[in-house]
Amino acid sequence: MTDFQGLKAIVTGGASGIGEATARLLAARGADVAVLDLAPDTVAPPLRPYRADVSDDASVRAATARAVDELGGLDVLVNNAGIGAAGTVEDNDDDQWHRLWDVNVVGMVRTTRAALPHLRNSPHAAIVNTCSIAATAGLPQRALYSATKGAVLSLTLAMAADHVREGIRVNCVNPGTADTPWVGRLLDAAEDPGEERAALNARQPMGRLVTADEVAAAIAYLASPAAASVTGTALAVDGGMQGLRLRPA
Ligand code: NAD
Repeated sequence: MTDFQGLKAIVTGGASGIGEATARLLAARGADVAVLDLAPDTVAPPLRPYRADVSDDASVRAATARAVDELGGLDVLVNNAGIGAAGTVEDNDDDQWHRLWDVNVVGMVRTTRAALPHLRNSPHAAIVNTCSIAATAGLPQRALYSATKGAVLSLTLAMAADHVREGIRVNCVNPGTADTPWVGRLLDAAEDPGEERAALNARQPMGRLVTADEVAAAIAYLASPAAASVTGTALAVDGGMQGLRLRPA
């Protein structure tokens, strides 16, 4: 498919996992893609690496300006960079709350603010935010993370409303547990990573995790001209975790 031919995209957190799969897919479908990441050293051509910390406004503004200049414009912004936290409200202190909010929520606001003036010049402007089933699922031991993703969902809807008449579409994807380096790190920290992975698979309706490529395909759809009438939507890519209302076996 070459449906992104001639389009220019920025993917935050595009050096790993869902962001990396998305950046590669958009490039394979014809886009010129800039990756903004804390650690962009592994980003290889044709992807363009830019070092940026989404929790630092000056860093985001500088990297976005440079990327848009070198791309020659901007059509697609994928707000994907995010970090996790485990625990109940008693387990995370104020600093942890502020830190996660700063990266997962305000990080998306910063990149969007920097990108909007450029997106306004595109006839195919689209923003896709990586949210999570945690936004609405009531997951145990994920109070702080869930609150940030709930905010990403609300932010997506508000942004979609604010910019619909400017021709800028805003949607999000809600992945279930996706097999990325992030989840790999969590499993590696378990006493028996193999057993933990098997238990995690068994808790999924499909008996397996979602893949990063499957989430990337959903992001690419929402970002593509084929989704020209789609805005203010959250697309679940969770193996049925939420919609099927299944209880863990
Ligand atoms: P990952 O850890 O594999 O990749 C995250 C990338 O973001 C890394 O390259 C990292 O360097 C970058 N990053 C982190 N903080 C940053 C910052 N301050 N500035 C710039 N870049 C930064 O993680 P992933 O699993 O691919 O997760 C990507 C997104 O998907 C996150 O928003 C996460 O909340 C969401 N998500 C993941 C899952 C899952 O199960 N993996 C499920 C639902 C939602």
